[in-house]
Amino acid sequence: MAMGRTFRIKVRMRRFRRRYPKTAFAIRSFMIFSATFGAAYGFVSGSRSENSGYDPNAFAIGASFLFALACLGLATLSMRLRFVNKRLRTLAAHNEVLIDRNWELKEAEERARSLFEQQGDLIVLRDHQGRITFANDAYCALAGQARSALIGTRFDFDLLEQGDSAREASGTRIHDQKIATPLGARWIAWREGYVRLDAGQPAELQSVGRDVTDRTETERALSDARDQADAANRAKSRFLAMASHEIRTPLNGIIGMGGLLLDTTLTPEQTTYARAVKTSGEALMALIEELLDYSRIEAGKLDLEQRPFALFTLIEEITELLAPRAQAKKLEIAAYVDERLSLEVIGDAARLRQVLLNLAGNAIKFTASGGVALIVEPGIWPNEISFLVRDTGIGIAPEAQSRIFREFEQADERVARTYGGTGLGLAISERIVNRMGGRITLESEPGKGSTFDVAVPLAASQAGAGPSAFPSPDLAGKSILLIADGIEASLIARRLERWGGQTCMVSDASVAEALLPERSWHAVLIDRALGPGVVDRLGEVARAHAAQRLVLLTSSSRHEKISAAFTGFLVKPLRAASLAARLALTPEVASPDLAPEPPVESTAGAVPAKGLSILVAEDNEINALLMRSLLSKLGHRVVIAVHGEAALESWLAASSAGTPYDLVLMDIQMPQLDGIEATERIRAHEAATGGRHTPILALTANTLVEDRYACFEAGMNGFLIKPLDREKLEEALAGLAASRHLAV
Ligand code: ADP
Repeated sequence: MAMGRTFRIKVRMRRFRRRYPKTAFAIRSFMIFSATFGAAYGFVSGSRSENSGYDPNAFAIGASFLFALACLGLATLSMRLRFVNKRLRTLAAHNEVLIDRNWELKEAEERARSLFEQQGDLIVLRDHQGRITFANDAYCALAGQARSALIGTRFDFDLLEQGDSAREASGTRIHDQKIATPLGARWIAWREGYVRLDAGQPAELQSVGRDVTDRTETERALSDARDQADAANRAKSRFLAMASHEIRTPLNGIIGMGGLLLDTTLTPEQTTYARAVKTSGEALMALIEELLDYSRIEAGKLDLEQRPFALFTLIEEITELLAPRAQAKKLEIAAYVDERLSLEVIGDAARLRQVLLNLAGNAIKFTASGGVALIVEPGIWPNEISFLVRDTGIGIAPEAQSRIFREFEQADERVARTYGGTGLGLAISERIVNRMGGRITLESEPGKGSTFDVAVPLAASQAGAGPSAFPSPDLAGKSILLIADGIEASLIARRLERWGGQTCMVSDASVAEALLPERSWHAVLIDRALGPGVVDRLGEVARAHAAQRLVLLTSSSRHEKISAAFTGFLVKPLRAASLAARLALTPEVASPDLAPEPPVESTAGAVPAKGLSILVAEDNEINALLMRSLLSKLGHRVVIAVHGEAALESWLAASSAGTPYDLVLMDIQMPQLDGIEATERIRAHEAATGGRHTPILALTANTLVEDRYACFEAGMNGFLIKPLDREKLEEALAGLAASRHLAV
């Protein structure tokens, strides 16, 4: 404490001496003078005094005492001197170190300054009043001014555009600016923050800016290029849609007229040529459709729907659609949907149908004997469903297996020449499946067949979580004999076993005959494909041993006469529901004189709509001629309108004359007034007058889902996809009649 105080006093005194050297000198001189004067005066006056009697003894004592005192003083002084010298040496060493340190600091400062100055980034410091206190070379160069000219000024660049701004947790503000400089406009990304260097001093603004002009411009150029590419892509798609529409219109004419020509009396040679014209036209049409679809998918225009659909129905529809093609090649086609799967799932049914139709179509195309099976099972992941398309065809060589999924690739040229095709089908299918979040895998052995596995995630629909669509029969403890061969038979056996039945499958008629008396059978299923004679004989034998005797027919053999020994028939490819319904019947109910399963289509097909008055709105002359010929041949009266406006007028005139049309077939793309608008006006008029609802069918070459929605939204009852032929038209008219839209 005391030490500290003395030290502080000393420091203060030293500081005082340093600050006021003259005053200190005066004080010191005064003190020396008064001490000397006091001592001299004392000595003189002492020796002169009257009563200072000289005593040599006392004098000697005094003198020696004084001498000793002087010696002591000298010794002290010399010690102090030594001490001071030592301190001085330490100080000198210290001083040296300090000089070195100072030097280093100077060097470091110099380095830091030059680093700052030569930074590529802009660095500028400003005081609290915005005056520049430091600016580096980059800043000066961009400003086009010397540093000395900038320091102390409030210089700043002109702002052209202010970008986004953000603040970091540390308080640093980050923002982009576009500024005007003598070198042109530049984009600078700034980082700015206030720094307080000395307590009590106002804070200083430190700004560091990076020139990001190149980056920003590249980004802008990229985004411009992307916009342009998008626009170009849209234009391309529009062009493609237009072009394909333009190509399809005359192609419809070629196919339609070819069909009409085939209906006339021709020599066999002419028939061959006309048929070739029609087939080529159809091949070209398929190619155009595929190209259009592919380019649409490539352009990212594949919008998938998420709607509930029935899995069973989809698969059975696909098999039934392909059955005529398979049966024409004497191939079997069968489907099996695992009953563990939920009945209704959510996804895009139309696109899934497209993929499966393509795979199953290929399977039929590349198979010469045997058959094609469509098996639907739970996949390996939860919610995943696996669609297996299996064939017994030519197979695919291992090296071609990944290649065929690429566009325009076929397994090998010889195959392509024999079977035709574009090589687009699998490429399209794979893209669709990938978009659904699934995958297609392939297993194949040349000569043995192929299995394509489409695994897609399809969530079960809430509505479909209930019990199955049809009650599955309880076959527990019941024996069923299946006399058949091939893919479908094995799938039927699998299904029967799932229902609890003891199934015995034999493919040989004589073995079957021997087996029949072995026990009492709940049902015997015999495939007509074994040959009519054999089948009828087996039926007779089975009378005594089986309550139910069913024969399996193909759609082509269904009209053949069947022996009375049978209690019913089932049409291949079998619907699970039909099989279940048949087997659930008690033998008494199943009358022996054949109660055929109600074929849905035949009732509609059996009553063709005759003699309707039909308005056809079609701007293409050839298509109009085609429609007129087709409809007149079917016995209808046809009026043609060449555009929407004319169609509307004709419809109004007929309605007010009291002879309204029974049906309107409306082309969608027409000049003046298109089909959608014409329909809307007709519907509006009907609503206003409370008149009869005229069925309107769209005529379109466009298969886009959104176009179909537009048709329904406008109030149309359905649509007909071009190219049209007699069967399609007949079917559509019959369909309308069945749904009682048409008064026949
Ligand atoms: P396309 O059938 O129009 O030629 P795809 O893309 O559908 O085009 O098929 C590509 C190729 O893959 C076919 O040409 C054929 O060589 C081969 N391929 C596809 N499916 C099968 C199959 N089930 N069996 C044998 N080969 C097949």
